[in-house]
Amino acid sequence: MSNEPVDMTAYRGVMKRTRRRRKLFFSTVLVYVPALWITHSISPTNRAMGTVFVIWLIFLVYATVLVALSKCPRCGNSFHVHGITLLVLRKCLHCQLHISDDLTT
Ligand SMILES: [Zn+2]
Repeated sequence: MSNEPVDMTAYRGVMKRTRRRRKLFFSTVLVYVPALWITHSISPTNRAMGTVFVIWLIFLVYATVLVALSKCPRCGNSFHVHGITLLVLRKCLHCQLHISDDLTT
């Protein structure tokens, strides 16, 4: 990694896609309790609750894989994965590029 100034607008497409994947991930996590609550109010059976849980779990795995595969445009490593650890933080785990650095220029 060099210390030369970089045109952050070149990162915009990749960073936008990474932000969209993060939103999908957090939205999936947040929808869990309301989805089960609504399902319970409509049909409080184990079968209905289990079906909604499995559908939610499939979405969660999909969103997690998308987040894990997000690449950092500056260093080329995974933005949210370091070793075997997945951390959905706002900075690249390798070069500390912030998720919204491309928006400030
Ligand atoms: Zn990086």
